[in-house]
Amino acid sequence: MSSSPEAPETIERLLDHDDDETTAGNYFVANYPPFHFWSAGNAKYVGELISKPSPKETPLGVYFHIPFCRKRCHFCYFRVYTDKNAGEIARYLDAGMKELEVYARSPFINGRKPRFIYFGGGTPSYLSVNQLRSVTDRMKELLPWDEAEEVAFEAEPGTLTEQKLTALKEIGVTRLSLGVENFDAHILEINGRAHRRDEIFRAYNFARSVGFPQINIDLIAGMLEETDENWRENVRQTVELQPDSVTIYQMEVPYNTGIYKTMKTEGKLAAPVATWKHKRAWVDEAFAELEKAGYTVTSGYTAVRDPQKTKFLYRDELWKGADLVGAGVSSFSHIGGVHFQNLADIGEYIETVERGEMPVSRAMATTPEERMIRELILQFKLGRVGRAYFREKFGLDPVERFSQQIDDMQRRGLATLEGDWIVLSRAALLKVDTLLHAFFLPEHQHARYT
Ligand code: SF4
Repeated sequence: MSSSPEAPETIERLLDHDDDETTAGNYFVANYPPFHFWSAGNAKYVGELISKPSPKETPLGVYFHIPFCRKRCHFCYFRVYTDKNAGEIARYLDAGMKELEVYARSPFINGRKPRFIYFGGGTPSYLSVNQLRSVTDRMKELLPWDEAEEVAFEAEPGTLTEQKLTALKEIGVTRLSLGVENFDAHILEINGRAHRRDEIFRAYNFARSVGFPQINIDLIAGMLEETDENWRENVRQTVELQPDSVTIYQMEVPYNTGIYKTMKTEGKLAAPVATWKHKRAWVDEAFAELEKAGYTVTSGYTAVRDPQKTKFLYRDELWKGADLVGAGVSSFSHIGGVHFQNLADIGEYIETVERGEMPVSRAMATTPEERMIRELILQFKLGRVGRAYFREKFGLDPVERFSQQIDDMQRRGLATLEGDWIVLSRAALLKVDTLLHAFFLPEHQHARYT
């Protein structure tokens, strides 16, 4: 999928291989500059950063990472733990709160209240009701939630009981995201998912009856043994359930997945999943069916039932440069223009926090230009970029700054200029993660797999 290391990433070159077989590596662009450029040497500066005075006007979010799962999915690339007992989990949660306390007391964060909270994983819903109540009470004491407009929570259907869902609602969760991925029992099984088909419907119906303001369903296009017929059925079932929002990812096969390990053992270069062209066609079909059912496509991955009512603050604020305090093992933070990530091993993370040190493994201070590019490429994922926003915030017009790339996209029918907006076509939106590399600074190109 990559062109030669010396050649600049142009739209044309990037599209050369975009229909290909799925090979190992990361496709999804989560942040900018790429992780490869974050360094262990810079980690020590994070303590200094949070000792600076607070920029009170920047929105603040809090992320807490729960790295536990019932079972490891074959396509999973996260460091997850499937063997921890209640005592070990309690020690991890204590460490997470100790870490958060350091931020809450720091001059940079003290006195600011989070606008959005996100529980990600792993599987946050793996925690028991008691663990959930205790950890969220402590979080609220450290950084009060009374101004939080969104509390998002990722859940695996098989871990949800009526009692747990009621507790989550009482705790203040506003956006419950169900990791359905697929509705077919066999596909769930051979991809190593822990939940069963009937658990999806049970969890969804409980969640609806409890009355969460927003329920999202996650799907993956291109799981092992996915077929056209089954995908159509996935889409039909999703439309029938009428969730407030649907998120669809195209299956990628990073190096640290079970699928890649099997490919390596068998000496295969192509992953045993559909081609990129086929996966895009599945997402395209799903978006078209969702639109027929009244949904609106609001990003390259999302369709929502009522765009006026259903927002996703965590995504939208982060993509506009909000501060994010990420607590927990391997969590990502973005504070005051500095990216950093925590230690990825749970034992090392806990011991470092318990010693009273910051558990940061790598960091990168971004320049204003890098921050501008970061926001631009992340906002491209929404399918529409407002030029006025960039003029006001960064003093430049992206259409002038990236004239070559925008011209190329217009010529190929991938983008149009509509008033003050750069609008991506549906075809461009479905391959947005491929196209974004053309907007990277030259020194950051060709680093997509690291
Ligand atoms: S549930 Fe999510 S985090 Fe857990 S193993 Fe599966 S993909 Fe990984």
